[in-house]
Amino acid sequence: MAILMDGKALAAEKMAELKKRAQALHDAGRPAGLSVILVGDDPASQVYVRNKGKACEELGIYSQTLRLPENTTQEELESCIETLNRDDRVHGILVQLPLPGHLNEAAALARIRPEKDVDGFHVENAGLLFTGQEGVVACTPKGILYMLKKTGVPLSGREAVVIGRSNIVGKPVGMLLLNENCTVTFCHSRTADLSSHTRRADILVAAVGKPRFVTADMVKPGAAVIDVGINRVDGKVVGDVDFEQVEKVAGYISPVPGGVGRMTICMLMENTLEAAERKAK
Ligand code: NAD
Repeated sequence: MAILMDGKALAAEKMAELKKRAQALHDAGRPAGLSVILVGDDPASQVYVRNKGKACEELGIYSQTLRLPENTTQEELESCIETLNRDDRVHGILVQLPLPGHLNEAAALARIRPEKDVDGFHVENAGLLFTGQEGVVACTPKGILYMLKKTGVPLSGREAVVIGRSNIVGKPVGMLLLNENCTVTFCHSRTADLSSHTRRADILVAAVGKPRFVTADMVKPGAAVIDVGINRVDGKVVGDVDFEQVEKVAGYISPVPGGVGRMTICMLMENTLEAAERKAK
C-alpha cells in the first residue's frame, strides 16, 4: 500500500509557518496584500477565488476580489491590472483563469508587473524558471515539488514523467523536476504508447483533466504518483488517477481532494508573502 502524500497535513504545517511571516509583516507596518481579478461567473472559478480569500483571511493577509462582468473588454481588464500595478498596498495580482473566450489571456498576464505576478505565469517568470534562475514559481508546480521533498521522495537521477504540457502545470513542473536533476519526459495528447513512458516513471505527475485516467497497469511499482486533476463526476471531485487501484502499486500517492489543491493555495500565500517581504526590504 502506498504512503499517502497528505496535502491537508502538509498544508496545515506550512500555513502555521506562513502565519508567522504574515504577522511579522503586519508588525512592521507593511501588511501583505493580494488582489484577485475574476471576470464573469464561471462556477469553478468562484470556488477557487473563495478558497484563496479564506486562506488570506486565515493568515491575516489583506485580500480583495475585483469582480468584473462577463462582457468586460480587454482594455478594461488591462486598465484594472494597471491600477493594481501602481497600488503599493497590493503585492500580489492574480487574474483567475480561464478568462471568457473573447479576452486575450497572454496579453492580460503580460500586463502584470512580474514582481507582483504571484501565479508565476508572466513570461518573465516562466523564462527565469526555464533558465534555472530565481523568479516567482507557479503555485501548483511549486506545491508539487514541496510535497515530494517533504515526503522524502528521492529526485536526483530519477525518471520523472509528466502527463500534460500546459503552461500552468505540465511544463513548469517538468522544469522544476529537471532543475532537481530528474530525467524528465513530457507526455501529452499526441504521445504514442503512453504506458511505455509512464511505466518507467519513478515520479509520475498526472495533469490531464480526465477522471481516473491513470490506471494501475500504467504505474511502476513503488513510484511516487502525483495527481493534479480536478474533475467533477456526479457532483464529486475526482482526480486524474484511479486512486483505489493505483495505491496498491505505487510507493507514494497524493489524493484528490486533499492533495495538490491544498498545496497550490499554500504556495499562492507564500508567493504573496515573498512579494511583500521583497518590497519591505
Ligand atoms: P490543460 O487542459 O491545459 O492540459 C491538459 C494536458 O493533458 C494537455 O497538455 C494535453 O496534451 C494532455 N492530454 C489530454 N489528453 C491526453 C491523453 N489522452 N494522453 C496524454 N495526455 C493528454 O489542463 P491543465 O490546466 O494543465 O490542468 C490539468 C488538470 O489539473 C485539470 O484537471 C485541472 O483542473 C487540474 N488543475 C489542478 C490544479 C490544482 O491546484 N490541483 C491546478 C491547475 C490545474
